[in-house]
Amino acid sequence: MANSKFEYVRNFEQPDSLLPNTWIVVRIDGRGFTKMCAKYEFEKPNDRRALDLMNAAAKAVVTDIPEITIAYGVSDEYSFVFHKSSNLFERRASKLVTTIVSTFTANYVYLWPIYFPDTPLSFPLPTFDGRAVCYPTVQNLRDYMSWRQADCHINNLYNTAFWKLIQLGGLDNREAEKTLAGTLAADKNEILFSRFKINYNNEPEIFKKGSIVFRDYELAEPSSHDAAAAADALAEPAVQSKSQAEKDKKRRAKAKVVVEHLDIIKDEFWDRRPWILS
Ligand code: ATP
Ligand code: ATP
Ligand code: MG
Ligand code: MG
Ligand code: MG
Ligand code: MG
Repeated sequence: MANSKFEYVRNFEQPDSLLPNTWIVVRIDGRGFTKMCAKYEFEKPNDRRALDLMNAAAKAVVTDIPEITIAYGVSDEYSFVFHKSSNLFERRASKLVTTIVSTFTANYVYLWPIYFPDTPLSFPLPTFDGRAVCYPTVQNLRDYMSWRQADCHINNLYNTAFWKLIQLGGLDNREAEKTLAGTLAADKNEILFSRFKINYNNEPEIFKKGSIVFRDYELAEPSSHDAAAAADALAEPAVQSKSQAEKDKKRRAKAKVVVEHLDIIKDEFWDRRPWILS
């Protein structure tokens, strides 16, 4: 088509491509899920159906977009990691974020009736926001993932104690809050055990650790955690030839996407799955 006189407006679009050769993390978060919990009667502090639904939607996103190497989810949020070599959408932030957000939301809504067969969706409908952040080194990326998982643990310990004080202890919100004010992790464990005979360690892994979505291949042998292995875990991936990258892409597209609830703060998870960060 011939250029129209209107076409100059194209020049108003601003470039938003993300820094090359960095790990891109797109984190999405449910909008107003505090209200959603009340409206759809999520069990507190952890509604298993809602977590399973988040995981199913995330699995669909990872399956749909092979450039995602790993994803981590807790509560109403999910972080999707693009490999530093990814050139999807020329690394344009708005394209990456909006595609993830809408693919996730579409799947979340589509799969809702499977996880909430007795609770039809109405209003408010679930929606999500999203942002993209670049991490230059594997260490920064690992620290990001560790930050989210540590957050999961801290929040879950607090929420578990808080809700047990209400549900089993008969306290109201304010009393429960007051009981927990200034307590350390050990104190919360102690409150759970002495008052309710609950051993926090025996709580489900999905609650304590959150969920990890990744492509599964054969596990590497567990490495002895010597200095060399530790250095290996943080090594930057070598630059690949184009044909190798193509082969890897095909292999990734075929691999099975799994959801696990493992420790991603320690080295072992990464040592045993060297393909995730290589
Ligand atoms: P915003 O729009 O700013 O994100 P929000 O109400 O979603 O507001 P968040 O900080 O994202 O605020 O908190 C999410 C809330 O939803 C938390 O209170 C969390 O406990 C709750 N929640 C999320 N998933 C579940 C679940 N599976 N079971 C029970 N509660 C959940
Ligand atoms: P991309 O993911 O890059 O946007 P695309 O296939 O969506 O790829 P577009 O440039 O957005 O490419 O073009 C959308 C295509 O969908 C066009 O071919 C357009 O004619 C077709 N299309 C969109 N809406 C309709 C419609 N209502 N009826 C018939 N065709 C449609
Ligand atoms: Mg938010
Ligand atoms: Mg939220
Ligand atoms: Mg949140
Ligand atoms: Mg289009």
